[in-house]
Amino acid sequence: MDKDFAQGTKVIAKDGAEGTLTGSTSDCQLTGCRGLRLYVRWADGKLTKPCTKGMQMKEGVWHIL
Ligand SMILES: [Zn+2]
Repeated sequence: MDKDFAQGTKVIAKDGAEGTLTGSTSDCQLTGCRGLRLYVRWADGKLTKPCTKGMQMKEGVWHIL
């Protein structure tokens, strides 16, 4: 598994909220999308599964675009 998808990797949302990867992933089910859904646990306890096609990895941190 790529270290970019490792548990604990930081994620920053558009509004500046911070979360971390749980380490779980799944293939994106959107038709034609070859992305990967990364499971993100946010500070408020919520879990979301953004697609890597809408994210950018920069210096070890995922940014949701
Ligand atoms: Zn996708």
